[in-house]
Amino acid sequence: MNVIPSGESVVQFFAWYDDFNMSSQTSNVSVNLLGKSREELREFLQTLGEQAYRGAQIYHALYAERRFDFGAMTNLPAALRERLSRNAAIALPQVARRYLSPDGTVRYVLAIGSGERGLAKSANIETVFMPEENRQTICVSTQAGCAVDCRFCLTATLGLVRNLTAGEIAGQVLVALEDNRAALKPQTNIVLMGQGEPLLNYDAVMAALRILLDPNAIAISPKHATLSTSGVVPGIEQLGREKVRPKLAISLNASSDQQRDEIMPINRKYPLDKLLEACRNYPLRTWEHLTFEYVLLGGFNDSPDDARRVVRLLANLRAKVNLIPWNPGDLPYEKPDAKRVAEFRTILTDKDVPAFVRASRGQDVMAACGQLALLESAAFSSAQISPAL
Ligand code: SAH
Ligand code: SF4
Repeated sequence: MNVIPSGESVVQFFAWYDDFNMSSQTSNVSVNLLGKSREELREFLQTLGEQAYRGAQIYHALYAERRFDFGAMTNLPAALRERLSRNAAIALPQVARRYLSPDGTVRYVLAIGSGERGLAKSANIETVFMPEENRQTICVSTQAGCAVDCRFCLTATLGLVRNLTAGEIAGQVLVALEDNRAALKPQTNIVLMGQGEPLLNYDAVMAALRILLDPNAIAISPKHATLSTSGVVPGIEQLGREKVRPKLAISLNASSDQQRDEIMPINRKYPLDKLLEACRNYPLRTWEHLTFEYVLLGGFNDSPDDARRVVRLLANLRAKVNLIPWNPGDLPYEKPDAKRVAEFRTILTDKDVPAFVRASRGQDVMAACGQLALLESAAFSSAQISPAL
């Protein structure tokens, strides 16, 4: 999700292969500490016969200081650092490729391993880094692929490869921050809007968020973190009960059940009345509002009547709408007409529904919403891409 219109110019494209070896140890037999909470690290240190507070020191070094090598954790005694490097690992996702768009957006293809004892499938996922004047926004994946099968989304074409672990989710933010260390702005925003449906990987997503939002760890403000869901009602209800939670965005994308059924099969399980009831019951904090995303598919859901129906659907909700003109992929939809987009927005704002048009960044490197599907070959064959290796 993004706020700066992208140019559709010829792009430069940079790719590096396996040149970003930040992970200190990736052995399958070691315990991976990445993704562990402070409590889990304290317990782990105790199992090694060390004092628990050493676990809290590692927690801070790993997440707040981004020290990914035990040797660099100089607040630990040398003997402990040596012991840790034999018994544990900090296995970050590895940058397999980077694509840099002229608008500054970086799309990372990250390789995630097969986990401890090789139990999980190795896979590639994508993370997008978007620099802006005073902040950066990092778009994070929560699953490799996605099972929800929205018809307009390229990620859906992958199916679900697997859920990501807490370490793989938080690790994406650490990798993107570290890779841009020299150019970081004071504020970091995160959006859980990459590959996957976050509320269908609930526990790992929440474990990652507790690390991401902890002022003593990665320290992202809950006001600067947004989880986007296709509308998993039980997950929305559960999220509302969490003490630490990000803001919530809901992918509405249609103005009637009939229309939503057609493009989002999840609507058959959680139709609009159930979804909007969960939204009305959602316990918003004083400073908070809900965001509804609405992907505009030309000639399908972008008419003035659609806009009027959206106004009615969102009555009695403290909400704003982000209108996202569809980002093209190899799918049978059309970009909406610019005039229709403007008209749609005016119908909403005239009825006091705040609405914004979000032109996606990084389209030229297939980094925009719904384009994260590792369709490398499709990207390369586009005339807009000029490889510069
Ligand atoms: N699975 C979650 C989060 C990831 S998708 C969800 O669906 O909300 C993030 C956003 O991208 C969603 O709002 C989705 O509707 C939107 N999206 C998917 N494909 C798109 C495309 N081709 N163009 C524009 N937005 C798209
Ligand atoms: Fe999955 Fe979101 Fe894409 Fe739907 S829009 S297929 S939920 S990633």
